[in-house]
Amino acid sequence: MTVVESLIELQEVDGRIRELEVELKDLPRRKALEMARLSGVSADLQAAKAGQEYANQRVKGYEADAQALKDKIQQLKTTQAGLKSNKEYQQYSIQIDLVSHDLEATENNQLAAMDDLPSAEKRINEAQAKFDAEKGGVDAFCAEIDERIASVKAELEECKKDRAEKARSVNDPKFMLYYERLRMKRWPVVVPLTHDGVCDGCHLVQPPSVGQLVSANAKNGAEGKPQSIVACTMCGRILYGDI
Ligand SMILES: [Zn+2]
Repeated sequence: MTVVESLIELQEVDGRIRELEVELKDLPRRKALEMARLSGVSADLQAAKAGQEYANQRVKGYEADAQALKDKIQQLKTTQAGLKSNKEYQQYSIQIDLVSHDLEATENNQLAAMDDLPSAEKRINEAQAKFDAEKGGVDAFCAEIDERIASVKAELEECKKDRAEKARSVNDPKFMLYYERLRMKRWPVVVPLTHDGVCDGCHLVQPPSVGQLVSANAKNGAEGKPQSIVACTMCGRILYGDI
């Protein structure tokens, strides 16, 4: 195997490592998005529950008010029964009448507040059903993501072992150093020089001298002679070609 061929093999593994690393970064993000969506659905459910609590409190409040008014009427009537003068008796009758009006209004309010209860409960049921349905889907999705993360990590580990092996097969430190430096800035690093004499990385037409060097390199490789680095004059990628 020529040094360029061994570098291309290394590059293939590095390409896979890059893909896996991108996926590994992306997977938790996709999971977080789904969780955020579910927490929105959960917030709707919480709001529906708070709405029901509020409606219940209103009913209870009117109930307590009505009871207090009933007690007051009872108290007025008891006092009235013990009165001697007609005038006082009438004054109490007027007061009892006023409080009775208040009681009627309060009881009407209580009935109106009770009318809100069924719709509050319906809202909860709907929100709960939506939450349950969404949660099932989100749980399954997250489990799938977790599984994928585990398998990506496992493959990444295998690839890294493979990479170490492939890197050892590149038996020219010059090539290796050049490749390692460039791969942080340019990807892929090793590209063919097309038959039109164009760098396959940046698509710049190369001067004829580059084409000649690439051909000479390929010939040297085929004959088992040492190869030299032929780089694109624009992007610096390592160029290779067939004889
Ligand atoms: Zn180029």
